[in-house]
Amino acid sequence: MAPHIVVLGSTNMDLVAYVPEAPRRGETVTGREFRTFPGGKGANQAVAAARAGATVSMIGAVGTDAFGTQLRTALDHSGVDTDLLRTVEGATGTAHIVVDDDGGNAIVVVPGANATLTGLTHGDEALITSADLLLLQLEIPLDGVVAAARHAREHGVRTVLTPAPAQQLPPELLDATDLLIPNEHEAAALTGAADPHAAAHALLDRVPEVVVTLGAEGSLYAARGAEPVTVPAPRVTAVDTTGAGDTFVGALAAALGEGRPLPSALGWASTAAALSVQRPGAAAAMPYRTEIDAAAE
Ligand code: ADP
Repeated sequence: MAPHIVVLGSTNMDLVAYVPEAPRRGETVTGREFRTFPGGKGANQAVAAARAGATVSMIGAVGTDAFGTQLRTALDHSGVDTDLLRTVEGATGTAHIVVDDDGGNAIVVVPGANATLTGLTHGDEALITSADLLLLQLEIPLDGVVAAARHAREHGVRTVLTPAPAQQLPPELLDATDLLIPNEHEAAALTGAADPHAAAHALLDRVPEVVVTLGAEGSLYAARGAEPVTVPAPRVTAVDTTGAGDTFVGALAAALGEGRPLPSALGWASTAAALSVQRPGAAAAMPYRTEIDAAAE
């Protein structure tokens, strides 16, 4: 049977302007193109896990504007259960992204409805209790993340935390985290250690298992009392790495929920993420299970 994964996290509309050169303060520039993409780390991880074959429920919030309706529909179409995605009065979360011709970007995130996720309802609690795995990130208020992690821990549900955007984490959150998945920049920010091996080692003082993602270099798995394992990423030509980390986490969660051991689950997640970077967009680029299985052979 497919594992049941609950995601508590952000749902955003990404509003992207492509410009020759980003404007400086007080300046107006003419852009080449404007595009919108469903985003938010929570929704992205939910879509990745659902496409990878898990049964996924999303706890989150959208606003009463048109973006809210569009995002709910996009999640429904990916097979994510949105019964506990609330619609709250006001604006949906948005990310305002300016991408210049060098591929550099500048981003303003306005949390909107995501800011209302400060705690759990009884319905949220019951859903988390029934799950095999809970996925968390840091694009909603920390109080909501901590409440969910603690509830999951009390009920024996495995918790997976992506510590993004990077920030210092309260001990009560780390105490309730089973698997922490920072990228190398987040790992460095959390520990002060620039070397990923050193950072992973330091993080094991606080959580039992760590995966540091290393972009095109793959990932590094470390657990207490075991030798660290490096998993190389498949060599591919990347066209857009937006959402690579979320694809990786969603696919990894689906594989772990099925009972695969971590090293094999990591290889499968790397295959999924490598497929996603070869296509434009974040959620739109995420592969389905049959594609991942075919590429993993
Ligand atoms: P984030 O997107 O959170 O910054 P990373 O850049 O570390 O995270 O990427 C997450 C995972 O996606 C990596 O561990 C790797 O498996 C895969 N990945 C990212 N970039 C590439 C790439 N250029 N080629 C192949 N795989 C990649």
